[in-house]
Amino acid sequence: MARVILQNVKHVFNNVVAITDISLDIPDGEFWVLVGPSGCGKSTILRTIAGLETTNFGKIYIGDKLMNDIPARKRDVSMVFQNYALYPHMTVRQNLAFGLRMRGVKHHLIQERIAIVAQSLVLEGLLERKPKQLSGGQQQRVALGRAIARQPKVFLLDEPLSNLDTKLRDNTRHELKELHRSIGITTIYVTHSQVEAMTLADKIVVLQGGKIQQVGTPQTIYNQPANRIVATFIGNPPMNILHGTYTGEGFNVAGNFLPIISEIQQKLNFNPGQTIDLGIRPEHLTLNYEDNDPSLLGEVKVVETLGRETFVRLGLTGSNIIINAIITANRNINPGDLLRLGVDLSKLFLFDPH
Ligand code: ADP
Repeated sequence: MARVILQNVKHVFNNVVAITDISLDIPDGEFWVLVGPSGCGKSTILRTIAGLETTNFGKIYIGDKLMNDIPARKRDVSMVFQNYALYPHMTVRQNLAFGLRMRGVKHHLIQERIAIVAQSLVLEGLLERKPKQLSGGQQQRVALGRAIARQPKVFLLDEPLSNLDTKLRDNTRHELKELHRSIGITTIYVTHSQVEAMTLADKIVVLQGGKIQQVGTPQTIYNQPANRIVATFIGNPPMNILHGTYTGEGFNVAGNFLPIISEIQQKLNFNPGQTIDLGIRPEHLTLNYEDNDPSLLGEVKVVETLGRETFVRLGLTGSNIIINAIITANRNINPGDLLRLGVDLSKLFLFDPH
């Protein structure tokens, strides 16, 4: 196990800057998730830590050791890829043993280690099978098992769940969290899924355009997003962004007035008359509000029952603004209905549109 530190790491592919100014300090044993849209530089960061890309700018430490000139095979990290990368001609047992055999570990020690890994990943009944005789989820568990069997200092996972169907993905995600709890290896996990980031991470690193936008716990990232990029990336459905005008007393949004309350006061650094972007999460809109509470009026475009809650898409009256809401519906709502939704102003976010 080890602490992982990146100091001002930058990587350039043929004049294209893939990542820049990446500084992270990942404590020993924590589970960190790198998240962001495709092309934001997640895999490049992981590959530089693994030593699969050369680091010419900045420094990478694993433990207390500078890694820049240490080749991948000597870094004591294990990486699991999206496509599992199992050896097709080998059995599960041989796949699990491979990394250990290459390091010259004695046969009986390898078999002991395999037994432990197979038990923790429920692979005992599958050890003599070949990869093609396994389901996608089982193959992924073998890939994880092979990485753990080596007892690396650091565990690197690149979108390990993205080839699994939804149910299996949820199950494997829970197993992965459990596994980390039991073995406690420093883990760096790459995903474009904000759900995986929110549920797995001790700390989330949100990336965009090769740069870190914010580092924080899932709660901090959700409740105090550093900027609009983070705010709209984390949350499902994403945060609504509404253009409004600041009047000095409140905000005009598509003919609705949202007054300023004390929680917003501290965030105000705008001049009256200025256009601003208001961020409202779908779950902070409600059908249950008092007559005088701030609200938004619109026409229902889409209604989807989610079980306990209902998803509603609303076109705000007199504008082309569309908002999404997740509400508890205590009555029938249909497309075409005129609907007023209360706004929890204490949860409002304010962004400068420029
Ligand atoms: P992500 O994992 O977030 O999808 P990547 O780290 O794969 O993003 O890519 C970051 C940027 O670097 C992208 O613009 C991508 O096109 C570029 N890139 C990645 N690998 C290479 C490569 N081998 N050659 C050239 N450009 C690359």
